[in-house]
Amino acid sequence: MKTAFQKTAFLAVGTYLIVTLVASNQIARSNPGNDIKNEENCLVERLFGKECTVPQKPKITPIPTPSAVPNRVLTDKERFIAALMNQFPIIPQPDTYEYILLRAYGAPFVNLNPAVRLPEKVAFSNHQETQKFQDTITKGKVIGTKNCYLQKAAADALNKAYFQAKFRLKSGYANSDCIRDFATTAKFWKKYTNSKTLDLVKQGKETRILGTVAPPGASQHLWGLAIDLKVTNKKQITALNQNGWYRTVEHDVPHWSYVGYPPETLLRLGFQKKVIGKTTYWVTPL
Ligand SMILES: [Zn+2]
Repeated sequence: MKTAFQKTAFLAVGTYLIVTLVASNQIARSNPGNDIKNEENCLVERLFGKECTVPQKPKITPIPTPSAVPNRVLTDKERFIAALMNQFPIIPQPDTYEYILLRAYGAPFVNLNPAVRLPEKVAFSNHQETQKFQDTITKGKVIGTKNCYLQKAAADALNKAYFQAKFRLKSGYANSDCIRDFATTAKFWKKYTNSKTLDLVKQGKETRILGTVAPPGASQHLWGLAIDLKVTNKKQITALNQNGWYRTVEHDVPHWSYVGYPPETLLRLGFQKKVIGKTTYWVTPL
């Protein structure tokens, strides 16, 4: 026979166990398996008057949520090269002739407009290569001229600027201010240089000449994306810039290149504004 005390004690133990098991079940839902087992065991141990310490749970440091690679601020040069890579998946090594030419004449290569054709190399090797490229372009006539042609997108933009602020061709009429053939650029080069100049340019020892005349095959005029103009006032410059036309070749004051974007985009693409004398150029950061 059990005494009343035994019965009460039994009931108390039973109730405690039930409460504990329910509690441990609650824990089981929220804790990993091993911890629960330890706590459950401990509760039972304590129930029978034994000392028990639940082993300390190792502190888990929350794993940081992977975040995107921090946005490093790109330099002008990095942004320009990124834009350039659309046309040149492999950027020429610095100090090579190609890189020197890209630095001087590479501005139009950032243009992503599919209507604008860009050559696959910085300089054409000969008349045939130039002609092959020029055969692929759609030409547009420059308003107010007899026979000045450019790529159509470039001509359209120039004509838009012309309506905002009139300007003239450098020579006033000649088609050599506009798209040129290989022979014409070669002739100009010969006129301003001697037999050693090209080698000096290739070695990076002579750069100033690039602002006077482009080496054979390297002129932006061959691409139909350059024009020589007589621009004298700010209104003309603003109109040209707003329509994507810029002075991009240092020291070549009459030479304008079609880049195809407004000034704020050029700055975002890494172009640098450079003032020489009173003339502002938008030069590549190469
Ligand atoms: Zn020019």
